[in-house]
Amino acid sequence: MNMRRAGLLLLTLIFLSSCGLPIGRDLVVKNKGEVRQFESSNPLFSSIVTQFEQAGKQYSGNANFSAGHVPVNFGDTENESFEGVCFSYPDGTTEVIIKEAWWNSASQSLKESLLFHELGHCVLNRDHDNETHDANGVTYKASLMSSVIVNSGQYNSHRSGYLTELFTLNKTPLFQSLDSN
Ligand SMILES: [Zn+2]
Repeated sequence: MNMRRAGLLLLTLIFLSSCGLPIGRDLVVKNKGEVRQFESSNPLFSSIVTQFEQAGKQYSGNANFSAGHVPVNFGDTENESFEGVCFSYPDGTTEVIIKEAWWNSASQSLKESLLFHELGHCVLNRDHDNETHDANGVTYKASLMSSVIVNSGQYNSHRSGYLTELFTLNKTPLFQSLDSN
């Protein structure tokens, strides 16, 4: 192909990769006509989902906070780089799909970091927040909604701050916790 066509093709590829919604994002909007794969959750996830609901009630102050309408199951995340994904459908429903091989090798706190992130998309309608916070020479993620999930050590040490931010968007307790490290 000649240079002009090659240039056009390159431009087209750049345009597609920067505008295509599902590319590089684990909150994936499904096309018209597509429907949820599951109606209910794999019971294996029930204890972590219950913890998400308890945290939601505690930090948001809403005693009716619930996540029961969003099924969580193992399956194909449709992107090699995603351990979990939130699929959003045209009928308004959402569901979380988790990569089983990753789940089985992850620590308990990393499982919670990932699943709470996906529920942040699917239940709380949150998008990514890649803000960082420097404390004592270390750069920390300032939200569980960071596009790269918070690692288990940082999540364990500052869980209350991360959960406050997740459910209320208030970063102050997290920053205080990180600064006092
Ligand atoms: Zn995400």
